[in-house]
Amino acid sequence: MNLCDINTVKRLMSKYATGTKKGFGQNFLINEEIPYNIANESYSYHSMKNKASKKAVIEIGPGIGSLTSELCRLYDKVVAIEIDKTLIPILGETLGEFSNVEVINEDFLKLNLDEFLEKNLGECTISVCANLPYYITTPIIMALLENARRENGTSKFTSITVMVQKEVANRLCADSKSSDYGAITASINYYGEAKKLFDVSPDNFLPAPKVTSSVVRIELYDEPKYKVKSEYMLSRVIAGAFAQRRKTLLNSLSSSFAELSKEQIAKIIEGIGFDINIRGERLSISDFCTLSDEFSKVLNK
Ligand code: SAM
Repeated sequence: MNLCDINTVKRLMSKYATGTKKGFGQNFLINEEIPYNIANESYSYHSMKNKASKKAVIEIGPGIGSLTSELCRLYDKVVAIEIDKTLIPILGETLGEFSNVEVINEDFLKLNLDEFLEKNLGECTISVCANLPYYITTPIIMALLENARRENGTSKFTSITVMVQKEVANRLCADSKSSDYGAITASINYYGEAKKLFDVSPDNFLPAPKVTSSVVRIELYDEPKYKVKSEYMLSRVIAGAFAQRRKTLLNSLSSSFAELSKEQIAKIIEGIGFDINIRGERLSISDFCTLSDEFSKVLNK
């Protein structure tokens, strides 16, 4: 069955008395080359990094299974998490030929990820691959990053390959100092490197979204490249630095750290060698780590 054939998509929807739901960000792929290429981009990197292991992938939002089936052809194990219960019987039919897939009807953002990984993918090396629902792209990527490390600092995931809106992809992959650089870019740079792979035009989806999409692969560091006293403090400092983009780093951080005076924050910024009028987007992830450790020192956290 060609799951990207527009008539097949419509026939399945009608057979199971359902339709595409805007509220769940449902834009299904209707060009089979795209899921084939996304799955190959995910798997080729995964197998290059993990030679001998059992290879698993988590897919968020399988829809009717077009990307899932390509992942099933490559990975040893696929776990697909779909929020829409009306799609579960469709996936039962479209993925029926594969014995290496498990479909879970859950909201990804409500999963206890560690419990889930231990229960489902204990022995495997794991990547994440998804055509993400656009309404929750950032929360999903942040949830994955914040859960990406084991207690010993090594990464739970090899890579996170996602299709997102092109404008978001530009932010994920931005260089520091560019206008696209923001809190999510700095957070990604702490955990790994984001690479833009290719663009996908709206006519490849049903229904067609208004904007172009892009596929990005976040390649996670096996071991931490940067170290901080507290990752919680780092995420507070990064969020605070970009909370008010038009303001200087000092003013933006002053609004977010009410427990410190502006003078104390100014002293921290100058103490690590930056001009007091610098803006958050000028700081690299290494600078943010230094800044975070200074906040930890002053706040004793
Ligand atoms: N993978 C399919 C494809 O490429 O054609 C569908 C992608 S569609 C853009 C996004 C999918 O994510 C939909 O199937 C939607 O129901 C699902 N979804 C939306 N929110 C979700 C959530 N919180 N947890 C899990 N799945 C979700």
